[in-house]
Amino acid sequence: MPWFGMDIGGTLCKLVYFEPKDLSECESSASEVETLRNIRRYLTKNSAYGKTGHRDIHLQMDNVTVKGVSGTLHFIRFPTSEMKNFLDLAKYKGMAKLVTTVCATGGGAYKFEEDFKREVNMKLAKFDEFDSLLKGLQYIDKNNPSECYYWANPTEPSKCFKVNHDFSHPYPFLIVNIGSGVSVLAVYSATNYRRVSGTSIGGGTFLGLCCLLTGCNTFEEAIELAAEGDNTHVDKLVKDIYGGDYQRFGLPGDLVASSFGQMNSREKRSKVSRQDLARATLVTITNNIGSIARMCATQEKIDRVVFIGNFLRVNPIAMKLLAYAMDYWSKGTMKALFLEHEGYFGAVGCLLQFHE
Ligand code: ADP
Repeated sequence: MPWFGMDIGGTLCKLVYFEPKDLSECESSASEVETLRNIRRYLTKNSAYGKTGHRDIHLQMDNVTVKGVSGTLHFIRFPTSEMKNFLDLAKYKGMAKLVTTVCATGGGAYKFEEDFKREVNMKLAKFDEFDSLLKGLQYIDKNNPSECYYWANPTEPSKCFKVNHDFSHPYPFLIVNIGSGVSVLAVYSATNYRRVSGTSIGGGTFLGLCCLLTGCNTFEEAIELAAEGDNTHVDKLVKDIYGGDYQRFGLPGDLVASSFGQMNSREKRSKVSRQDLARATLVTITNNIGSIARMCATQEKIDRVVFIGNFLRVNPIAMKLLAYAMDYWSKGTMKALFLEHEGYFGAVGCLLQFHE
């Protein structure tokens, strides 16, 4: 039985741990059961993850079945840069004695394969990241009735709220996975999909630029700053150029004409705050992704676009911007959808593929 699925990305390592309800169901020996109990006790304790690791308790899925065994899925993430500490811990906790194979996907499954073997004598069963992502997405959506949602009234903050969306007949749809970079997949059936586009300007770019421009150090800090800022102090809007709307082509005055376009002026630079710069960075990156998503959707003749990836974690500003942009520019013909387990589909999907 595989217990772990890992998606080792460019920024974050996502770890999914399946905890069987009844260990005796898994044909383990008494000593294995004891070690499993220890691992379980440890992994479900909050103190387990130190300063950099987190268990997303709100995402936990109880009473699910994996390979005929019922149990709970736990969702854990830590920075990929902490991989060495993770391996030290795995060694220390005796996991290596029990778990001989870990299902892994993402670039790190290749990059760290040797380290897993050398440090903890664990073999990585490697799976393709997009196959895993789709399998995980289908599984989680099937098992969680409130997984998929959209934002109603994204343009009016006081009236904007999340609405549950029935995603049981999803095909065709576009996936826009916003991780460190961005990949766009066109999905036609459970097994038929293509990677149609991508961009290097993604979540990693947002965080990197934000750290450079504001001196912040974490994603959470960057998002908090952005929430308090105003990008119109940084960007050049259509009305800054036209004095109002550009009516002939239906461009409203409040539309950004040039991201960061005011920052060539020393005077304007002296007036912007860190918050404004963070907001402008978030808006720039998000709108660019939204625009690529829309072009891909048009080209593929697909009207449902599902945005996932950890860039959207604790990031309602970006989600609402994407929802607004998709709706506005497609004149209401395209819909932006979101999923609660935004960054974890790859890790779940590779766990499910074991022995297939
Ligand atoms: P990858 O597989 O490339 O690591 P993810 O889907 O995990 O991609 O998303 C990584 C992105 O998520 C980061 O570039 C950043 O924008 C955002 N992010 C969200 N939470 C964090 C966090 N705690 N630490 C770093 N980046 C985070």
